[in-house]
Amino acid sequence: METQQSWIARDRRVNWHPYTQMKTTTHIPIVRGQGSYLFDANGDAYLDVVSSWWVTLHGHAHPYIAQKVSEQLTTLEQVIFAGFTHPPAIELAERLLDLLPANQERIFYSDNGSTAVEVALKMCMQYAYQHGQKKSKVLAFRNGYHGDTFGAMSVSARGAWTAPFQDRLFETLFIEAPTLKNLAATFELIDKHAADIACLLYEPLIQGAGGMLMHEAEPLSRLMQYCRQKSILLVQDEVFVGFSRTGTTFAADQLQAEPDIMCFSKGLTGGTMPLGITSCTALIYDAFYDDDKSRAFFHGHSFTASPIACAAALASLDLLLTAETQAQIAMICAQHAAFVKRVERHRNVRAVRQCGTILAVEWAIDRSTSYFSDLQPILHAFFLARGILIRPLGNIVYLVPPYCITVAELESVYAAIVKALDEIYS
Ligand SMILES: *Cc1c(COP(=O)(O)O)cnc(C)c1O
Repeated sequence: METQQSWIARDRRVNWHPYTQMKTTTHIPIVRGQGSYLFDANGDAYLDVVSSWWVTLHGHAHPYIAQKVSEQLTTLEQVIFAGFTHPPAIELAERLLDLLPANQERIFYSDNGSTAVEVALKMCMQYAYQHGQKKSKVLAFRNGYHGDTFGAMSVSARGAWTAPFQDRLFETLFIEAPTLKNLAATFELIDKHAADIACLLYEPLIQGAGGMLMHEAEPLSRLMQYCRQKSILLVQDEVFVGFSRTGTTFAADQLQAEPDIMCFSKGLTGGTMPLGITSCTALIYDAFYDDDKSRAFFHGHSFTASPIACAAALASLDLLLTAETQAQIAMICAQHAAFVKRVERHRNVRAVRQCGTILAVEWAIDRSTSYFSDLQPILHAFFLARGILIRPLGNIVYLVPPYCITVAELESVYAAIVKALDEIYS
């Protein structure tokens, strides 16, 4: 029988983990998941309030998704998506387009969030190219995160993570996430470069990896409207916030302007299978629609529109739209809002913020607030010792719970956060 220790030893010999200094990190072997919990080889449970990197919507190993994926696996597991199509890809596109802003008319499949962003960037650039325009710049928010491939890195915050590749990243114009106060300065900057900007690429309402930073819907809508006037395409990265994380099905549902292109992944399959989607308007699609083969969109992946992943996404959508899940989402939003009131005056809280089902508590400790903060491992270990999986971003503790979480489970996490605030302050 394998034990916790033998899994750890075998893992150490062969695996290389992401974002990890392998020399100083041990990885906990997880052998099973159920609902909001993960179980290690010792049988110890971890309440997964980060939805395993923000992907798990309905809990782990959900039987309904498992059944639908299993049926798909024994019906059609894979088919080349050039020259062929299949029912799950058609149904998923139809159902998503019904839920997305009215101007979204086409679905392009890939297999993760970074590729969904790459596809969006290439669509914008080839769109400009096919109109004979030379638009060399992309506009993006400071502190943004859009993925780890080269295009996605280019439009993400520059720092220690991107330093080794800096010379190879394309030119991006960074602006502050919009507030009613800073819009005028941003408009001025846009005016200076407008003719040279292919698109604005942004995380709407919440900048996740940047520290769960939040901005209001109104200034974002106004920024979008301004870019539209200047013929700058709008690419809305809902890879993280899509599928009700913000309390509405999409962040788009809270905005007064519609994007040209949207990106989805993470919660798309309920966190069960890798799948990416880039949706776009007829305006974009029509720029590629031609008798001339050279005007086609030259992008694709071996697993484009994986039937299994599409089946998982359809099953996840079924679950998301039930009255039960919608009530759960409303419950999480209300519980978070009450907790914000409870801790906002705690002496050790610098800021506490909430957007829908996402909650972030920022420690008032003026050491490094970066990914390399020394507070991070202390907080991580504090919660882990209490059976709670939280992965702080520097001094920011955040919750992105699966929608199946209970009031009692949320209360136990809030209590642990308050205890940490009381005890960990220097
Ligand atoms: C996670 C994330 C991505 C990248 O998705 P991956 O599937 O990890 O490649 C892109 N954009 C946002 C907003 C994200 O949070």
